[in-house]
Order: sequence, then structure tokens, then C-alpha cells
Amino acid sequence: MAKIVLVLYDDPVDGYPKTYARDDLPRIDGYADGQTLPTPKAIDFKPGTLLGSVSGELGLRKYLESLGHTLVVTASKDGPDSVLERELHDAEIVISQPFWPAYMTAERIAKAKKLKMIVTAGIGSDHTDLQAAIDNNITVAEVTFCNSISVAEHVVMMIISLVRNYIPSYQWVVKGGWNIADCVARSYDVEGMHIGTVAAGRIGLAVLRRLKPFGVHLHYNDRHRLPESVEKELGLTWHAKREDMYGACDVVTLNCPLHPETEHMINDETLKLFKRGAYIVNTARGKLCDRDAIVRALESGQLAGYAGDVWFPQPAPGNHPWRTMPHHGMTPHISGTSLSAQSRYAAGTREILECYFEDRPIRDEYLIVQGGALAGVGAHSYSKGNATGGSEEAAKYKTI
Ligand code: NDP
Repeated sequence: MAKIVLVLYDDPVDGYPKTYARDDLPRIDGYADGQTLPTPKAIDFKPGTLLGSVSGELGLRKYLESLGHTLVVTASKDGPDSVLERELHDAEIVISQPFWPAYMTAERIAKAKKLKMIVTAGIGSDHTDLQAAIDNNITVAEVTFCNSISVAEHVVMMIISLVRNYIPSYQWVVKGGWNIADCVARSYDVEGMHIGTVAAGRIGLAVLRRLKPFGVHLHYNDRHRLPESVEKELGLTWHAKREDMYGACDVVTLNCPLHPETEHMINDETLKLFKRGAYIVNTARGKLCDRDAIVRALESGQLAGYAGDVWFPQPAPGNHPWRTMPHHGMTPHISGTSLSAQSRYAAGTREILECYFEDRPIRDEYLIVQGGALAGVGAHSYSKGNATGGSEEAAKYKTI
């Protein structure tokens, strides 16, 4: 029988909810590219409930225990005294969400002698050392498309919030003020702006589609060009090199995966290519940006604003400079874990587990690594190597 370690974020500080703001979730029939929603044989949770925190258990306990497996659920994931570290030695499967990632480094993989599969309940498996998974014949899978639209909505929200100076204006209300001039001295319309995305995959393209009605000029950079019909429909300008796009845009949003090729692609040198007063929205991965270069650019005015929900490491230490830098609109990593998204990736995780235990193939669109090589969607979107360096910093969260 297998031991499954499920790493989830903590329950709300005032306890696991007894009631919810809404009674149900809107129904969607499939994803924009024709991919089907997750298809587990059954689910043991009510869609619309909190599944991604410890008490929600991704709705997996009944299923796994009915097969005789052991399920360990914990939020304790960093440092040598963590529950994850203690349970790893005989774990067969480790599951975590990118919002609260179980950093599966080469050292941890070496300790986990029985480990066969690492599942990302969400999208983005950069918290796993993919090279170590390849070398140790460990399957890595994620739930492709489960929260792409959730993130795209967050990106659009953040672009508009930054450009219109929403958060500081809201804060004046909470403080009891009516300081119109303070609010509008940094407030613009997005209409007429040039907005570009690095990567036009599931999220990037959904962002472009959602921005089109705002009367903006849309740009993108991607390794592969979109079909001509899509470029025409959305009026897109394609840039072969992302560095060529930066100077043409008022707002740049990052929507590419983190892998060794993209790590720190926004740095002191590349920031010089941006227009003065540009905005960056990054909901892809914190490490796409050099942390301190972003702070410097906001302080100097080279950037007018920076927003996103991804940090490195996660959780971000209490003294992470992005918490206090000027003109930011950061949230914790939440864009892909709305209650709507949770119900999809909980079902997708269940589907992956059903395939694994029934010895059926996992969908190609969910596979990142299998049989000692990048596989499925991973072979297309990821590169070999490791992007987990520095993750031990996450252990500092509790001490600050
Ligand atoms: P997709 O795989 O659909 O899209 C990724 C796109 O990035 C592809 O079009 C790919 O190009 C392109 N790409 C890869 N490398 C580069 C590069 N070096 N330069 C330019 N483009 C590149 O993934 P999603 O859109 O679903 O997700 C994107 C990322 O967003 C994820 O990897 C994850 O890190 C992050 N994410 C964040 C979430 C959150 O909660 N904040 C939730 C979900 C995802 P091509 O395929 O043409 O080669």
C-alpha cells in the first residue's frame, strides 16, 4: 500500500469555513482549446468548498483510504523539522500546489527512496527539480488548464488596478479620507496603451482576448507564433525577441514558465529597455524577475508599478522587499486557487491518482516527466535542469 504526502496551505486563521459566500459555482463545459475538464470516475467533495487548505484535503481522503493507502496531509513543508521532511523517506507520492509548494529538491528526492510520482495540483512544476526527477525515473504531472482562466482574470484585474491607482485610492477610503488629488496623481486610462505579454500560451492568450475590448494595442512574444487568424482577430503585433517588445509597451505581463532559460529574465539590464513609467504584471513565477532589480526600478521611477502574486520563495519571508516596495499591487499566491479553480484541480488530481493506481496512462496533457525524460506537455513547455535553487529560504517564513 502506498503512502501519499499531501502538502496544502493552512486553514483560514479563523477556522475552516462553515458557510460560503455563494451556493454554487458557474458551470463551464470545457476549456478554450477543446481540452476536456478533469474526468475522474468520482469526486468526494462539494464543488465551491475550500479544498486547497489542510482541512479540505483536496477531497482525497475517502478515496485513498478506501484503497488501503495512507494519506498524510500537512502544511509543514520547509526546513529539516518539517512534517514533509519527516514523512518523505517512505512516501510513494508527493502532492502540492504551487501556491504553497513542496520544494522537491535533488536532496529531498535522494532521501525519498520509494518516491514514484510528484503531482502539482495546479500548473507549474518548477518547485520540483525536474532534472532530479528525470534522473530518478520519477513521474511528474500537473493539471494543465485547470486554473489558466483564473490567472488570466487576475492579470487583467492587476493591470487595471495598477494603471488606475486603485489600491492606494481604496486605502484613502479606509483611512477615512477623501483625497482625490492624492488618488489621481498616478491614475491613467488603459485605453490607447500598448500592452504586451511574454508568452501567449493558455494564460497569455486568454489575457490578450480579455484585454481586446479595452481599446488597447496588443503585443506578444512567444517561441512559436500564433495562427495568423488569431493575430488578425486580436490585432496582435508579434516580436521575435522579448527584449524588442519591452520598449514598445506601457504594460508588460509575464506568462511563461520558469525554467533555467527564463530565470531572472527581468533584471537591471533588461529593465533599461522598458519605457520609463512602464508597469509589469507577473503572475507566472517570482524568479522570472531579479527581486532587487524590481525594487530599484520602482524606487527610481523606471517602473510605475509592479503587481503579481508569485514570489520566491513561497511563502515569502516577512522581510521580503516586495512587501514594502513602492507602487506595488502584490497579493499572496492566490490567482490560480479561487474556489472555482480548486474544484477543477482537485478533480484533476483525483484523475491522475486513479490512472496511477489503476495502471492506466495519465493524459499526455498532464505529463511533465515520465520514464526518465520530459514527456507530454512537459516536453513542449519545460526544459531540463533545475529551478529550485534558493528554496531553502522558505523556511525563514515562520521565523520572521
Ligand atoms: P502554457 O504552457 O499554455 O503556456 C506557456 C507559454 O510560454 C507557451 O506558449 C510557451 O511557448 C511559452 N514559452 C516558454 N518559454 C518561453 C520563452 N523562453 N519565451 C517566450 N515564451 C515562452 O502555460 P500556461 O499559460 O497555462 O501557464 C504559464 C505559466 O503560468 C505556468 O508555467 C506557471 O508558471 C504560471 N501559472 C501561474 C499560476 C498562478 O496561480 N499564479 C497558475 C497557473 C500557471 P511555446 O509553447 O510556443 O513553445
